[in-house]
Amino acid sequence: MRKKIIAGNWKMNKTVGEAVELARELAAKDFDSGRVQVVICPPFTDLTAVQETLQGSRIELGAQDLYWEKSGAFTGQISADMLVSAGCAYVIIGHSERRQYFSETDETVNLKLVAALQAGLNPIVCVGEMLDERQNDETESVVERQIRGAFAGLTAEQAQKAVIAYEPVWAIGTGQVATPDQAQEVHGFIRALIREIYGDAVADSMRIQYGGSMKANNASELLRQPDVDGGLIGGASLDAESFWAIVKAE
Ligand code: PEP
Repeated sequence: MRKKIIAGNWKMNKTVGEAVELARELAAKDFDSGRVQVVICPPFTDLTAVQETLQGSRIELGAQDLYWEKSGAFTGQISADMLVSAGCAYVIIGHSERRQYFSETDETVNLKLVAALQAGLNPIVCVGEMLDERQNDETESVVERQIRGAFAGLTAEQAQKAVIAYEPVWAIGTGQVATPDQAQEVHGFIRALIREIYGDAVADSMRIQYGGSMKANNASELLRQPDVDGGLIGGASLDAESFWAIVKAE
C-alpha cells in the first residue's frame, strides 16, 4: 500500500507574516498520518519561520526548487544543504513554471535530482505535457522523455526515494482539471515506465501525484484512481480550508 501524499506548492505567494498565519492554521488541524502524508512548500524566504511554526505538527516542509552546486559564487541560488538546514524534507524539482519561465531542462532537472538525493532530500519531480502536445498525441513521449532525462544515471535505490508529480501543463492554474480517466491513463503509463527501468519493487512503491487544478470538489475521484497516490496542489493550497478539504478527501 502506498501512503497518499498531499503537497501544497505556495509558489510566489505569502510574506513571512502571511506564511506563518497559514502554517499556524494548518498545524492546528488533525489528520491520520498513517493514511496520508502532508507537505507544504513555501517560498525560500518563509522556510525558517514556517519550520518553527510547524514544530510539534506532523506536516512536513518542502522547498520549490534548489541549485545543484554545493556552495560558492552562484548569486541568488539555494543549495540542497541549505534546504536541509532550514528544515526541509522535500523539494519540488522541474515544475512546469520553471521549465517555461526559467529555462529548466531535463538535464538541469537531473542535476538537481542528484543534488537533492545526495543531501538526503525527498524530491518531487514534476513532469507533464503542454496542451498542443496532448492535442498532437505526444503526451506519453513527452512524459517518457522527461522521466528518462530526470532519472538518467540514477540507481533503483536512489530512484525509489523520489515522488513523481504528473502535472499536465494545460491543467495548472486553469481550472481545467484532467478527468480521472485521463489522469489514470498517464499515471499507469508512468508506473509501467518506472517498472521497465527499475523493476517491480520501485514501480510498486513509488508515489505518483496528480497536479493541475485539484480542488476539494474533484480530489476524491482523482485520488480513487489506482495509480494516483496524492496531489500537488497550487492555488487551493493557499487557503487552509480548501487545502485541508483535499487532505481529508477519500
Ligand atoms: C501546481 O502549480 O503545481 C499546481 C498544481 O497548480 P494548481 O493547483 O493551481 O493548478
